[in-house]
This record gives sequence, structure tokens and C-alpha cells, in this order.
Amino acid sequence: MERLDDFMARANAAYYATHDPYADFTTSPEITQVFGELLGLWAAVTWQAMGQPDPVLLVECGPGRGTLMADALRAAGGVAAPFRAALQVHLVETSSRLRAQQAARVPDATWHDTLEDMPPGSMLLIANEFLDALPIRQFVRRGAGWAERFVVAGEFTERPAAAPHLDAADEGAIIELCESARAVAEHVARRLVRDGGAALFLDYGPAESAPGDSLQALQAGRPASPLVEPGSADITAHVDFAALARVARAAGAVVHGPVPQGLFLTRLGLFQRTGRLAQTQPPLRAAALVQAAQRLAEPDRMGRLFKALAICHPALPCPAGFEP
Ligand code: SAH
Repeated sequence: MERLDDFMARANAAYYATHDPYADFTTSPEITQVFGELLGLWAAVTWQAMGQPDPVLLVECGPGRGTLMADALRAAGGVAAPFRAALQVHLVETSSRLRAQQAARVPDATWHDTLEDMPPGSMLLIANEFLDALPIRQFVRRGAGWAERFVVAGEFTERPAAAPHLDAADEGAIIELCESARAVAEHVARRLVRDGGAALFLDYGPAESAPGDSLQALQAGRPASPLVEPGSADITAHVDFAALARVARAAGAVVHGPVPQGLFLTRLGLFQRTGRLAQTQPPLRAAALVQAAQRLAEPDRMGRLFKALAICHPALPCPAGFEP
């Protein structure tokens, strides 16, 4: 018998160590180069608002193939040369398989197993679909109390437990708790308050905390059971942005968002930049670029469920894309 978060941590570590995740799912930076380019420009503009510290750490958590960072660095090098010259790339990645792919695209990076290992200093942090892979606990409403979900032989079993929050819920309702994501938000907030900078998290989840079972697994692009064959599928859960915002504020940081990804990217110029790039391309490739931008921004695709959340040093003005 294994608590769900222990099971999920073990399964995902095995999965990322042995699989090419992009055979099972795709992500925004893989859909269009403009995604990483916009985030690179977002970082450059935020760096200017920080007073252009030199050096500055440009950090990415869970960089996958390194595509986002490579696109961000190229864009920053083009229009923000002083930022490109001041930044030092740090990647937080546990999978040695993926580290090798990242090194091919971003050779001048330094790798860390956890955020805690990073050297001090002002930073700009970006993380796309990192928090959703972190292990969650699940609690089920049973009578007047709660039970916690454990995994045994590929099935859920329950044990009575004290749920850490939320009193009112219907019988059988499920609430989720991601202690690792909260620890990341708290660590990042403390660090930003101490050393300066901003962090941008893009991921999928509701704007407000809500009960519900969001655990899901993908294998070859199709839903699979999260519990059988640990390590064979990517297991994720919705990110509880409201909870992360509370934790970061309690640590002294200023939080902006969450705003829907479609709105955020549109404000950063997704369609203008895509249009300019498309003009330089043959017709088929130009059409594919426009379709890719629509996929990221349209509400019934990735535009609404995905959100952007910024955690900032208290003196920093509202970062681009989060204007009220
Ligand atoms: N950001 C990428 C990849 C998303 S997949 C993209 O948008 O395409 C999740 C990434 O997080 C992978 O690189 C995975 O190896 C990494 N990861 C998962 N759990 C992690 C953990 N606990 N610590 C560090 N990296 C982790």
C-alpha cells in the first residue's frame, strides 16, 4: 500500500527516466516556436523593470527537450542583446535522459536536481507544465470526515484521515493537495523577496480551488489508467493556482493572475509575431504557424484551461500580460 503522492512520484520518476514523453503528449513550446520566443521577450522586459541586474539567473523548471529555452534565448539575443549577455541559464531537471536532450539545444546551461540547489542571485524563472507533474494527495469525503487515497495492486484503497483543509463537501467528493507545488511556490517566493526577480508558471487548472478528481495519465496521446503499470504513462493533475498564490503571498511576494493562457499570450503579441514570421514562410508552413497559435489561444483548446501565474518581488511593477 502506497500513498497516492508516493506512487505518483515513483511512477513519474520512472516514466521520465525511461520514456520520450513527447511520444505520449505535446506541449506549447513544441507546438510553435513563438511560445518560447514570447516568454524570452517577457523575461527581457521584466529584467528591464528589475533595473537590469547583471548577472541575472534565467531559470527553467522541467525544461523537457529544451525547446522553450532555446527559442527564448534566440529571441532575447535578437532584440535584447544586453539581457542575453547578462543572463546565466539554470535548468532544474531530474531526468538524465531529458538533460541530454536539453544540452543539445542549450549547451551553456547549468543543471540542478532541485530549485534549492541553485546559487543565490536575482532571477527570472519560467516553468511550463512542470507543476502538473508533481505528486498529489487525494482525500475523499466520507460521512462527517475524510479518507485518504492509497494505491494497492493498481487500485485505490482508502484510509481514514484528517483532511488538511475544506469542511463542506458532498459525500464522495474528492479534494487534491500538491505539497510539492506548494513547496516550490513558497521557496520561489522567499527567494524572490530576498534576491529580486519574477517567476512565471504556465500550466493547466481552474482559476479557483474546487473539489474534483483531476488525476490523469496519457499514453500515446490517449487517456490511460494512472494506477496500472507505474512508469508507463505520464501522470498529471490540475494545478491549484489559488492555493499557490496564497502560499506565495504569505511568504511576502506579490502575485499576479492566474490569467487564461490565451489572453496572456495574445497580450504578449502571439498573433502579431506569428503573422510576421508567417510572412517569411512558404504557404503551408505559414498556415501551420497560424493554426498553432490558434491552438494555444482558443478558449476551447489550450487558451482557457491553461493559465499563467506570476510571482514577483514586491517592488516590481505588474509584469507584461497580467495587466488588470
Ligand atoms: N516544460 C516542458 C516539459 C514538460 S514535461 C515542455 O513544456 O515541453 C515535465 C518536465 O518536468 C520534464 O522535463 C520532467 O523531466 C520534469 N520533471 C518532472 N518532475 C520533476 C521534478 N520533481 N523535478 C525536476 N523536474 C521534473
